[in-house]
Amino acid sequence: MHSIPTGLATRQEGKQSLLKMLSITKIFRFEMAHAIAGYAGKCRNIHGHSYVLHVTIAQAGNEAEHIPAPGFIIDFKELKQLVNSAVIDQLDHSLVLSNSYLATHPYHTKPENLLTWQQEPTAENLLLHIRNALLEKIRPPLVLYRLKLYETADSFAEWEA
Ligand SMILES: [Zn+2]
Repeated sequence: MHSIPTGLATRQEGKQSLLKMLSITKIFRFEMAHAIAGYAGKCRNIHGHSYVLHVTIAQAGNEAEHIPAPGFIIDFKELKQLVNSAVIDQLDHSLVLSNSYLATHPYHTKPENLLTWQQEPTAENLLLHIRNALLEKIRPPLVLYRLKLYETADSFAEWEA
């Protein structure tokens, strides 16, 4: 490590940490129906949401002054295809119910768009489902950095690496 004036060191460290934070986000929308088993409120009945998913991708160890050509961490078009094929295509216009919900509502096992989960399809579990699917697809040096899932305009679940 070279000896450098304190002020300069601080500026350089500041700059490096800013570059390490470089990320991009793409926003996805999908419609999904669910019900929450054993819940006393309105969510115990099947109903739908227009979900909004924010997917943020960073690049590990990126301390360069700029991103080499073509200048992307990941092309937005490529990210769109990746997220659509990994999660959105499956979830959009589906009905997600847990095994325990279906155990007490057996007449709901018929719909062709039904996805049956072990866990309750809350915003939190849906976010973890999305995280698990995306972690399988996003390879170093790309990093799945943050996910934000809005169930309504003012309620969201968030996960950060
Ligand atoms: Zn709901």
